[in-house]
Amino acid sequence: MTELAIHGGRPVRKEFLPYGHQTIDNKDVKAVIDVLKSDYLTTGPAISLFENKIKSYVGVDYAIAISNGTAALHAACFAAGIKEGDEVIVSSITFAASSNAVLYCGATPVFADIDPITYNIDPNSIRELINDKTKAIVVVDYTGQPVDIDEIMEIARRNNLIVIQDSAHSLGSEYKGEMIGKQADMTTFSFHPVKPITTAEGGMVVTNNIKYAELIRLFRSHGITRDEDQLLNDVGPWYYEQQLLGYNYRMTDIQAILGVSQLEKIETFLSKRRKLAKLYNNLLENISGITIPEEPEYSNSGWHIYVIKIDTKSTGLSRKFFFEALRAENIGVNVHYIPVYLMPYYKELGYEAGLCPRAEAFYEDIITLPLHPGMTEDDVRDVTKAIKKILSYGDVIDD
Ligand SMILES: *Cc1c(COP(=O)(O)O)cnc(C)c1O
Repeated sequence: MTELAIHGGRPVRKEFLPYGHQTIDNKDVKAVIDVLKSDYLTTGPAISLFENKIKSYVGVDYAIAISNGTAALHAACFAAGIKEGDEVIVSSITFAASSNAVLYCGATPVFADIDPITYNIDPNSIRELINDKTKAIVVVDYTGQPVDIDEIMEIARRNNLIVIQDSAHSLGSEYKGEMIGKQADMTTFSFHPVKPITTAEGGMVVTNNIKYAELIRLFRSHGITRDEDQLLNDVGPWYYEQQLLGYNYRMTDIQAILGVSQLEKIETFLSKRRKLAKLYNNLLENISGITIPEEPEYSNSGWHIYVIKIDTKSTGLSRKFFFEALRAENIGVNVHYIPVYLMPYYKELGYEAGLCPRAEAFYEDIITLPLHPGMTEDDVRDVTKAIKKILSYGDVIDD
């Protein structure tokens, strides 16, 4: 047996392999430079161009570019009319932004447990949490795998709730053969560097509802409009009007043109991610002690992240050891996510451990393996080699 790097042995890889990374080429660079030399650095022609491209890619009526994915969630929650006294059901396994957006509106996030197979929000858990105060549901396509949105929309329609789909992981993922983004009342995307495409920082809300779209457009720019059709008073050509309390959540043209250039390559990015995920599946499926992700019939995931579960009992290794040993082998593993309500800030608000037992158990076992379009098949083989190396050490300890 070769000695583990964590014990001073030679690591499987010489160079560190990050879990996620942007893929930028010369076309992206040129597009950004061209905007820098143009008249508009922000809210110019690149914004509407990017919005129109996303609109037709997803197949929706409206797309509104926003400064980041968190602001997109905030804007969607605002447009949904979420306010103090409301409850909003949110998945417990997500990035904090999904529920922070509810808090920004003064409402109360209510955390739902996850489905043990898809790791997405469990529709049964949603049903149990609905009461008179429930206003909306924020669901997350965790890892890029779409939630069962038909079932969730049915629950929502029956109970008069608004559904916001946090699709930060899933631009380009498909549900029942349809692009993600056209099923929920509003869907939000993030263009952070590790996400399916990047604008450095950036986000988008898509919807088929004109009322939501108009509110979000106002909200992203101070609540101010100059649009003649929207003005309540007509004072003169200089006139503009603040109609609600908005923010400066605008995206720059520099970011938007990078988004346009990135979107042209999304099919290449997605097919690379799908190919690498399939290779992970093949290399890991028969290793005992490891659970690979399952994809339901309705899903064609874009594989934003690849998450495995470690069976600590049968391997004789803790997740912490596994994690640290993989990092020592120069494999940039990560953990997505700590159940949001276990954060100190949320604990201060009164949330307690034990709220979502399946989410908490899931969190104890998970490790995110590196996956991004810049990786090669050999990189995936390095990761699986490192996993096997560490597992064989565990077996030795077991004996
Ligand atoms: C990345 C992410 C966000 C936030 O997006 P930003 O663009 O970083 O603000 C929200 N929700 C989920 C699930 C994310 O992964």
